[in-house]
Amino acid sequence: MGGILLLLTTLLLPVQSWAASVKVVRISDTAEKSRVVFELSRSVTYTIFRMHKPERVVIDMQHTQWRKHAMKIVLPNPVVKSVRHGMHKGVLRVVLDLNRKGLAMRSFLLKKMQGKPPRLVVDLIRQSGNHEANVSHSHQHELVIAVDAGHGGEDPGAIGPHGLQEKKVTLAIAKKLVAMINKQHGMRAVLTRKNDYFVPLKKRVRLVRQSHADVMISIHADAVREREVKGSSVYTLAERGATPDRVAIALAAKENAADEMGGVHHAHNEVEDPMVRNILGDMAKRDSLNSSQILAETMITSLRKIGKVKYEVPKRARFVVLGALEIPSVLVEVDFISNPKQERKLRTSRYQQKLAAALFQASQHFLRRMGMLANRNSKKTS
Ligand SMILES: [Zn+2]
Repeated sequence: MGGILLLLTTLLLPVQSWAASVKVVRISDTAEKSRVVFELSRSVTYTIFRMHKPERVVIDMQHTQWRKHAMKIVLPNPVVKSVRHGMHKGVLRVVLDLNRKGLAMRSFLLKKMQGKPPRLVVDLIRQSGNHEANVSHSHQHELVIAVDAGHGGEDPGAIGPHGLQEKKVTLAIAKKLVAMINKQHGMRAVLTRKNDYFVPLKKRVRLVRQSHADVMISIHADAVREREVKGSSVYTLAERGATPDRVAIALAAKENAADEMGGVHHAHNEVEDPMVRNILGDMAKRDSLNSSQILAETMITSLRKIGKVKYEVPKRARFVVLGALEIPSVLVEVDFISNPKQERKLRTSRYQQKLAAALFQASQHFLRRMGMLANRNSKKTS
């Protein structure tokens, strides 16, 4: 009797405990892509594949059900013609019928964060028009990593007890990181500054946008009065109305003040300007904030392998340099230049190389996890 009961329980439990549901399906369209987002009650195991004639995307989600009124996509949509769904043995099959051919696809799961439900994101990327420059002959998108070396020119950034300037450290690490990226097949780097000159924060943002970058990494070195403080920390852009974080706000105020050093004066809290506000309200932007979080977490994991990490979770604040990007963007404080021991290390090419390698590996992990970079490790031959 007990045996039968136990058997029944084990048969029933997996279905009950794994049941997830699709709560909302929505779409956002930009010039580059259409993003279909499935808001879920909990994370799912899924498979996704393409079928042609007619063009469609098929998504199978394990132990998942479709909730009534989940469909929020207004049809017809320029890309998605119709959305169908059906259940078979606990597997929910969703079919996106497409209106057009030649779309590249990528998909990834976002875990529950900042009060938002877990989501399955499917990007349908246009491969013509404005975006053509980024598509190589093999129809493979070359991933562009924007590398931002903090400060420069009249703005030295933080200065260590023995005179090492933050702007020198950030540029040295940035250049090493760029060299690593450019050696990698399918990846290319762009720098917001290539030498010791001043670039206003908003211009950096503009440069990153013009480069059609897929990811942005801003490199800095921190400083505080207490000389013994050390370790790296990673920051992302905070959403409006997010719970304020005192440490992160103080740091953002410091980094945002960079422009004043170069003689650029703008209103207090520049991130609040109307242009940026619009972008932040956009759905694509909201998803990029979440992928920024994943990128930041990947960075922390990678940096932990080479030294102390000051905060185990990424911190958020309203950095001007991260303020207007629809792509995953992080600001990394590689260490404390105010710590004499760390200052000495930061001066060495060896430590700079280690930090650059950590940032590089994290970027690669992130791009693979997002399905943006193929799972291979080929070096460029040329
Ligand atoms: Zn800085």
